[in-house]
Amino acid sequence: MSTNNLLEVKNLKQYFPIKGGIFGRTVNHVKAVDDISFAIKEGETVSIVGESGCGKSTTGRAILRLDEPYSGEITFQGENLLDLRKKDMRSKRKDLQMIFQDPYASLNPRQTVYQILEEAMEIQNIAPKAERRQKIADILQTVGIGAHQIDRHPHEFSGGQRQRIGIARALCVNPKLIVCDEAVSALDVSVQAQVLNLLKKLQKEFQLTYLFISHDLGVVRHISDRVIVMYLGKIVEIADKKSLFETPQHPYTYALLSAIPSTDIDVKKERIILKGDVPSPIDPPTGCRFYSRCPFAFDRCKNEAPELHQVSEGQQSACHLVEKGMMDYANYKAE
Ligand code: SF4
Repeated sequence: MSTNNLLEVKNLKQYFPIKGGIFGRTVNHVKAVDDISFAIKEGETVSIVGESGCGKSTTGRAILRLDEPYSGEITFQGENLLDLRKKDMRSKRKDLQMIFQDPYASLNPRQTVYQILEEAMEIQNIAPKAERRQKIADILQTVGIGAHQIDRHPHEFSGGQRQRIGIARALCVNPKLIVCDEAVSALDVSVQAQVLNLLKKLQKEFQLTYLFISHDLGVVRHISDRVIVMYLGKIVEIADKKSLFETPQHPYTYALLSAIPSTDIDVKKERIILKGDVPSPIDPPTGCRFYSRCPFAFDRCKNEAPELHQVSEGQQSACHLVEKGMMDYANYKAE
């Protein structure tokens, strides 16, 4: 992996134990994330996209060690975060922040905006206490909240404003990487666009790097430089945004894209309706995890798991057909 990577995730697994029997022993695991590797360059926005339960949010939480990963390596600025003691990891969170989906649930309703941000600065020892009020007022202005609102409580703001406060809280400790976990999913479409534009503006101003987690391909298209597609705990495709949206190289990506309505009334899109449900992450299929729902599946897919294969510069896909150069989406017709 290249040296200008800010974050490198290597063979990350996040298995959650299932306890059973009278002794409460571990009888099995939910394999929420199963051996994934990727890197994010400084200043980049990389999105992880996939259906609910694909492991995208679990990956974000594992990177910040909000849930302890089962195994793997998470290297941030050359240091494996999994080697850090809990206390050291807490101070490391100054550099790695998270913005959550539900701003209301993530803000303490009893605290004022000032108290919420000041607490975050206090934990990370940012600026002398006497200077914090001014700094907080400045940050609030930066995210589009008037400094006169500094002593208000979260319930006095709209959903979009609360998400701006969530962004301000992440920003006030001067982070390098922000994990945005479905950060605009709970907002109205017009407010979503405003918050996405704000995130882009802040990225330039503060040289931020984003890991953006979303189920919404429209949002992902707006914000990303590169996109990672996950299915049932595995990465099935990684590509720069243009390649992913214009020439997807995995049947699952293709199905996801086919569900986005076209804005051009002359363009008739062939929508791929995936059959069945996502299999259980407790006992995932042994071959390709997408086998049971893939319209292109053939015998080999059932028994042999495809590895990520380099399709072109900046685009990788885990599919046996792509590996053989046999994927022909253009001529695919849904049944
Ligand atoms: Fe479909 Fe087979 Fe490719 Fe998996 S490996 S995505 S089942 S064609």
